[in-house]
Amino acid sequence: MKAPPLEFHKPDTVEAAIAVLADSGGSARILAGGQSLVPMLNLRVAYAKTLVDIGAIRELAAIEDAGGYIRLGAGVSHARIEDGEADGHCSGMLRHVARNIAYRAVRNRGTVGGSLAHADPAADWPVAMIALGADVEVSGSNGNRKLSVEEFMVDVFTTALQEDEILTGICVPKASPDLLWSFQKMRKKSGAFGEAIAAVVHDPESGFCRVVAGSSAIGGPHRLAVLETALQEGAVDDGAIQDALTQTIGSLGRYEMQIHTVCLRRAIEEVRT
Ligand SMILES: Cc1cc2nc3c(=O)[nH]c(=O)nc-3n(C[C@H](O)[C@H](O)[C@H](O)COP(=O)(O)OP(=O)(O)OC[C@H]3O[C@@H](n4cnc5c(N)ncnc54)[C@H](O)[C@@H]3O)c2cc1C
Repeated sequence: MKAPPLEFHKPDTVEAAIAVLADSGGSARILAGGQSLVPMLNLRVAYAKTLVDIGAIRELAAIEDAGGYIRLGAGVSHARIEDGEADGHCSGMLRHVARNIAYRAVRNRGTVGGSLAHADPAADWPVAMIALGADVEVSGSNGNRKLSVEEFMVDVFTTALQEDEILTGICVPKASPDLLWSFQKMRKKSGAFGEAIAAVVHDPESGFCRVVAGSSAIGGPHRLAVLETALQEGAVDDGAIQDALTQTIGSLGRYEMQIHTVCLRRAIEEVRT
């Protein structure tokens, strides 16, 4: 099955892309790597009259050292991060996350911004970026705004983006060289989405500590604040992890509870050793 006929735009500036979105009255969609949007259009589970391909907008492809943080343009592919273009920041966590997304063919086209904007509850970047305390930059007809990835990810397949807004960049704070991190992903086979994901980031120098879990079963990324405190105070056992999951997410089936507990335990143990 193929998508219905579409109007196609390929602007070379963010402003021109916003103008098309604003004129469309909500019927236009941004096309980034197309790894989620195109199959969804073909299967008719997503709808658009107009596609706005952002692949020619150079500023969206930039990776910049911006003082206190590294700024990834929303159009940066997973493959570029896997290949080390954002290396030297977050002690290799970005590279590790990118390398474990899907297959190389998907990583060549799929973008970090597309992953966040799509808000698939099973996606890796939302979990990783919340754990790293990253912010997103958004531009629209009413100007620019910056918000945390946590605020940006509103719900399953839902973000804080307005119809005429584009996610332009992701700002990842620079950590100390002693940053401790772990990113665990449980999946049935290589290349598949995770059935459970856990990320723990602890910077002993600044005291920054985040524990985040994600998956379709738990409806996307969730910060487990109770575990962040417990992790800094002492030992965290499976009982504490399960209590934190129930408190934050609600009751889970036995299998879901087990895989999320194991994933979180492994992540916590890795940053503690
Ligand atoms: C076989 C397969 C396996 C996969 N496995 C994984 C996995 O293990 N882990 C994982 O995390 N992901 C996985 N993915 C998803 C993939 O990694 C992409 O990140 C994801 O498809 C979205 O990125 P994209 O650039 O292709 O966005 P697109 O498909 O082009 O767009 C997705 C959505 O985001 C919107 N959008 C895109 N960019 C912007 C922007 N800058 N501003 C506003 N809106 C925007 C689009 O309008 C659309 O609604 C997999 C995909 C496939 C096909």
